[in-house]
Amino acid sequence: MEKIKMTTPLVEMDGDEMTRILWKMIKDELILPFVDLKSEYYDLGLEYRDKTEDRVTVESAEATKKYGVAVKCATITPNVQRMSEYNLHQMWKSPNGTIRAMLDGTVFRTPITIDSIKPVVRNWQKPITIARHAYGDVYKGVEIRVPGAGQAKLVFTGEDGKVEETIIHDFKGAGVIQGQHNTDKSIRSFAHSCFKFALDQKKDLWFSTKDTISKKYDGQFKAIFEEVFEEYKEAFEKAGIIYFYTLIDDAVARVIRDKGGFIWACKNYDGDVMSDMVSTAFGSLAMMTSVLVSPEGNYEYEAAHGTVTRHYYKHLAGEETSTNPMATIFAWSGAFRKRGEKDNLPELQRYADCLEAACFDTLNEGIVTKDLAGMMEGVTPQVKNSLDFIRAIRERLEKRLAK
Ligand code: NAP
Ligand code: MG
Repeated sequence: MEKIKMTTPLVEMDGDEMTRILWKMIKDELILPFVDLKSEYYDLGLEYRDKTEDRVTVESAEATKKYGVAVKCATITPNVQRMSEYNLHQMWKSPNGTIRAMLDGTVFRTPITIDSIKPVVRNWQKPITIARHAYGDVYKGVEIRVPGAGQAKLVFTGEDGKVEETIIHDFKGAGVIQGQHNTDKSIRSFAHSCFKFALDQKKDLWFSTKDTISKKYDGQFKAIFEEVFEEYKEAFEKAGIIYFYTLIDDAVARVIRDKGGFIWACKNYDGDVMSDMVSTAFGSLAMMTSVLVSPEGNYEYEAAHGTVTRHYYKHLAGEETSTNPMATIFAWSGAFRKRGEKDNLPELQRYADCLEAACFDTLNEGIVTKDLAGMMEGVTPQVKNSLDFIRAIRERLEKRLAK
């Protein structure tokens, strides 16, 4: 079979530990035999980040802006223990944080679901995607511990010297106060990313805040989303999808009763909490995909999980591991499909579809990695190590592509 051609390179960001090992297996077994891979390679492994004083991360984000589609392996975010383990010159920032800030993007997380793993919420039939606004609110909050009686005020001084102020509270005794902020610019970017991704996925978009209580703050989120939606309204109608706004407490009740299959955009804190709830209810961290979408429509695909350090240390000790490569494979298939769409390469899109279908074929036959074995109902799982699992996918991929 002739290899599938590409025209524009994918931005390939390699990573660390067990996921770096999986990365190579996936390329060797599932990609290189079938695709004439064109990629611009950036090594975001911690050693090379340290060697380049983290310039490589910045360069990979710039390349993503240039080419529009990236695929990223999980990477270590250094902490004190990693400083000595890798003999680092500096405690480099999280690559994901750097890339997200440069692309000004929003992260969308969607579980990969299969029939034999039932979500905890019985009515969920389709995956629910969470989009979390990743700037501001309590995460950029400032706080004061009020020691005793006194008056707290909220004061804004404009560049023109104009002052606006309001009393927060007349304290009769000790208490606490907190200042939060967000910017129209960041909320608007968030809105654009959400509407773009909903169109991309042809899924309804829900958005929720508490604007009945927070009339100006949450009210501004609601208003900006409404305003930005005007630009997308026609495209939504054409795609047969809706934008739906509701209060956060109403949204929670509806999410639990719904059958799923939509995108739920959340403010920063709501997204932090709800994404853990939704992902846990769907099953396994190893089956959670993640994509960063910029307001300009640049995409960076990855797995939601980390570098699976515990498995890596076992691997280094010569033990066999059964680490689940599903989310990392889906990062590649997502990136190939998007590259295929952008470059009008139906063969590449078909390859992405076949790769995902081959993964489902494998799992549906009960061939799994260790993490999934205990969660399956109705099939007798056969646990494989990572490489044998990937090779089982390859066999099914070959059949699918030959059709
Ligand atoms: P992790 O790598 O997600 O792993 C936590 C645990 O979840 C694992 O020990 C394993 O449980 C299970 N798990 C996660 N992915 C799995 C998979 N594909 N297959 C099977 N089991 C899986 O989180 P962590 O151990 O807290 O973090 C490790 C490193 O990853 C850290 O250095 C952190 O900075 C980095 N990290 C990177 C990203 C990113 O690049 N996007 C995200 C998060 C964390 P068992 O051990 O019970 O089998
Ligand atoms: Mg959290």
